[in-house]
Amino acid sequence: MADEPEEFINTEVEPTTSKVPGYNHDYSSIVTEFKTQDEWICDICNSSAEQDGEYNLVQCEMCLVVVHDTCFGRELLDDEVFESDDPWYCPRCKYLLEVGLPPKTVECYLCPDRKGMIVDVVLEHNERWAHISCVNSIVEIWFKENSTKEIVGQLLNPLQFQEKCSLCKLIGGYPIFCDMVKCNTKFHSRCARAKGLIKTLEEHEEQFAVEDWNYKVYCSRHQEKGKEKVKKRKLCAHL
Ligand SMILES: [Zn+2]
Ligand SMILES: [Zn+2]
Ligand SMILES: [Zn+2]
Ligand SMILES: [Zn+2]
Ligand SMILES: [Zn+2]
Repeated sequence: MADEPEEFINTEVEPTTSKVPGYNHDYSSIVTEFKTQDEWICDICNSSAEQDGEYNLVQCEMCLVVVHDTCFGRELLDDEVFESDDPWYCPRCKYLLEVGLPPKTVECYLCPDRKGMIVDVVLEHNERWAHISCVNSIVEIWFKENSTKEIVGQLLNPLQFQEKCSLCKLIGGYPIFCDMVKCNTKFHSRCARAKGLIKTLEEHEEQFAVEDWNYKVYCSRHQEKGKEKVKKRKLCAHL
């Protein structure tokens, strides 16, 4: 029997799509769309704006998610991370590399979006994984400390985990309601953001008169009505 051609043997031992040495699972499902540095957008506040006059966006070497240091907190508040030449890995990628498990081991318990900044949070002595942006935009869950962003408190309604998202049509995670009274439309906050219903924090501050993460979110039917409503309330508050 003739020897098999060398090319054939080479394709057999070809590793998966992995580009991170030592990690042998396909992680393309968690990789954020590639953007050049001047197009980077923070996965948490959805904005590319400079903060405190500094360019402080950081990218994960593996999943390419980008965040502001102040939006992320944790170790990025330490200047050494910026001064170091070592690659930076987000908490999820760092964990996957350490344990060598496939990406589906770590998913946000509040939504089905597999991309983005998913971090380990501590909830009543249990560890969970969640998008920082999901915690920020769901009123019934919050970080107890803004800098460490690790321990969360929650008053989630267990029944809401069985609701269907009107945008991705999936049941699971924790869809939020349109803020228009009596509107029953529900969506995951990440799905709402992808559809442009949640914009950057700056836009929200301007349109929806908020200075924190507890902004109003309206479904596509109530975008205009919602804006008027918030504007009116803002006027009343100033009287
Ligand atoms: Zn940000
Ligand atoms: Zn990552
Ligand atoms: Zn999420
Ligand atoms: Zn959804
Ligand atoms: Zn609505």
